[in-house]
Amino acid sequence: MQTNILGYPRIGSNRELKKANEAYWAGKISLEKLQLTARQLRRQNWENLCNAGIDLIPSNDFSYYDQILDMCIMTGTIPARFKPLMESLVTPGSPELYFAMARGYQKNGIDATAMEMTKWFDTNYHYLVPEFDSSQQYRLLYNKCLEEFKEALALGIHTKPVLIGPVSFLLLGKIKEEGIEETVLLDQLLPVYITLLQSLQQAGATWVQLDEPTLVTDLTPAQRELFQHAYTRIREAVPALKILLTTYFGALQDNARVAVQLPVDALHIDLVRAPEQLDPILDILPEQLQLSVGVVNGRNIWKNNYELSLQLIRKAITSLGEERVLIASSCSLLHTPYDLELETDETVLTPQIKNWMAFAKQKVYEVIALRDIIAGNTALLKANQATMQEKSTAAIIHKPAVKARLAALTAADAARKNVFPIRQKAQEEILKLPLFPTTTIGSFPQTEDIRKLRADFKKGAISKDAYDTAMRSAIQDAVQLQENLRIDVLVHGEFERNDMVEYFGEQLEGFVFTKNGWVQSYGSRCVKPPVIYGDVQRTAPMTVEWSSYAQSLTDKPMKGMLTGPVTILQWSFVRDDQPRADTTLQIALAIRDEVTDLEKAGIRVIQVDEPAIREGLPLRKADWQSYLDWAVKAFRVSVSGVEDATQIHTHMCYSAFNDIISNIAAMDADVITIETSRSQMELLEVFSTFRYPYEIGPGVYDIHSPRVPNVAEMTALLEKAIQLLPARNIWVNPDCGLKTRKWPETEQALRNMVAAARNMRMAV
Ligand code: GLN
Ligand code: ZN
Repeated sequence: MQTNILGYPRIGSNRELKKANEAYWAGKISLEKLQLTARQLRRQNWENLCNAGIDLIPSNDFSYYDQILDMCIMTGTIPARFKPLMESLVTPGSPELYFAMARGYQKNGIDATAMEMTKWFDTNYHYLVPEFDSSQQYRLLYNKCLEEFKEALALGIHTKPVLIGPVSFLLLGKIKEEGIEETVLLDQLLPVYITLLQSLQQAGATWVQLDEPTLVTDLTPAQRELFQHAYTRIREAVPALKILLTTYFGALQDNARVAVQLPVDALHIDLVRAPEQLDPILDILPEQLQLSVGVVNGRNIWKNNYELSLQLIRKAITSLGEERVLIASSCSLLHTPYDLELETDETVLTPQIKNWMAFAKQKVYEVIALRDIIAGNTALLKANQATMQEKSTAAIIHKPAVKARLAALTAADAARKNVFPIRQKAQEEILKLPLFPTTTIGSFPQTEDIRKLRADFKKGAISKDAYDTAMRSAIQDAVQLQENLRIDVLVHGEFERNDMVEYFGEQLEGFVFTKNGWVQSYGSRCVKPPVIYGDVQRTAPMTVEWSSYAQSLTDKPMKGMLTGPVTILQWSFVRDDQPRADTTLQIALAIRDEVTDLEKAGIRVIQVDEPAIREGLPLRKADWQSYLDWAVKAFRVSVSGVEDATQIHTHMCYSAFNDIISNIAAMDADVITIETSRSQMELLEVFSTFRYPYEIGPGVYDIHSPRVPNVAEMTALLEKAIQLLPARNIWVNPDCGLKTRKWPETEQALRNMVAAARNMRMAV
């Protein structure tokens, strides 16, 4: 039986690629040095996989920035605004063009904005969105894929080149001009793919992997037809090349027939996300097709449960025979950290928890182990069973009190005491806010000093007293400034927080942090998600001290600031032994305790941020509602323990709510603040159509740029807002937190914002 890995992390065991890229961009290292680092990383990966004994070793899974951007360069999918740059370059594979498309370019009289970035399916990886326009001439501009295949071959390693398949490449992109048909575009791209594949065939490639993950999403009949068309043409052009068509992140469902009928040699399916699809696929898999069963999870950091995987593999073998089954990772290992063995600090990751985990390097060995167990190695299975057994009863995971509390949740726990109109009155009386109340989203500029303070405290370089004193003084300054600016609802500034999820994870039971568990988020940006390994519990208040200190400095309402349960879940590695909904509700209960403690401490306005609710939406529309049901419930559980007069805010960024507005309303938050300034309040329209009854703060200025908008601009946006929604319900605030901004621009922008609110008060 053969083993198959779909892709491997490329950032390097110590984020070498990130460091080399950033050094190159800063002009600190030469292109040759960057390329050398890249070659070393590729070599290391190939050797790892080769030494482990993997049969189908990926190549071209390396990328300096993003694999979809690579495909844009390879196929000549260069947006028109980069044409001048292209013409001035001699080598097509030039990093100048490549990085310009990724990061924007402002030099030599050329001013081209970066390509848009968006989330890669339901992962936290971001890809660059291909742009198709009529100026493009698709041709094989640069054969990165062939070069990397040959590079591996020269090292004595025969690899399986990996490419995003033509249909997914097309569907993941954006057609920038009306009248360009998908079918026509596909016919223009196919010759490029064919030339590329022919070059691989000629160079001696046996297998090539074409990723078509869009096959697990909702497709129109016309889109489904694109697959048959594309693969028929490819098959004719490269009859000798074995094609592995991969799907991942979900089930093929209604696209299954299309997938199995394609003229390819093997189909890969994700049995971690969708084990239920094995039976229906086995039923319809044509005789000439091999099946790659993705059983080792490429999306988490947990050890594989061999028994469960073996059941699936054995079922496939029974139906197809060993020769037709490949054992594989569920998707590329890009989404897991590099190597668990680098976690050597036992005070951070205890041996017990570490023994439950597997990173990319370990997952490769799991694939091999599964093959060996099938071949008769029972010792490997026994060891794994012992670990799974120990984990299933471990006291640090399973806390009866947490489980009991979750089981005892009632509908009443997810509901405020009274409906919004009654609460609104109660809040009005106690808060006495003017019309168009002003506030900010929570964080204030994180200066070098503040970062250093936190780092020093973490290192033990300064005492708790010294840290507290410095923090309090930062809070004092922030409160003073807000008072001077005459902002109505104040914030303490979030100076104590490194990150809005990590800060809470560090204080909650059931979370653990790695030292080196980095995964690529986009380009050179990597994130180190917290790991939720067990039942979540709050042992002590997490924010009350800072918030009540801040409140003590002012008569104005001080807003308590928390991260919501869905966002905490969404930005962490989540345990795989219970439904995500249950984990989220456990977090919700912990947040609920914090919310009620804040109320007890005299905090009258509490904001629970949920920027990740939207990004958690499942890939298939049919699955949306059940997700939204528990996500909304979790939010409500976290905020419903308070009195009517306590005002609950929530905040979301990037908020296109058209298709989920009723669920946003179901959150029953007294006030929602959203990002709208860049869309010129367009995003507010859906709230208007829906007759959204709650108060709402549509962001009046973009916090992503240092630019300070003037009073008239912000007033104009507010004028627009009151066309759409009752003036009584409108708040005035920036789009999001101000942590990435500098103080002078923040102060000026807020001054203008308050002036805009004043204008509005006088006008209505
Ligand atoms: N309260 C957070 C802040 O202001 C919200 C951040 C976010 O929405 N991503 O930084
Ligand atoms: Zn935000």
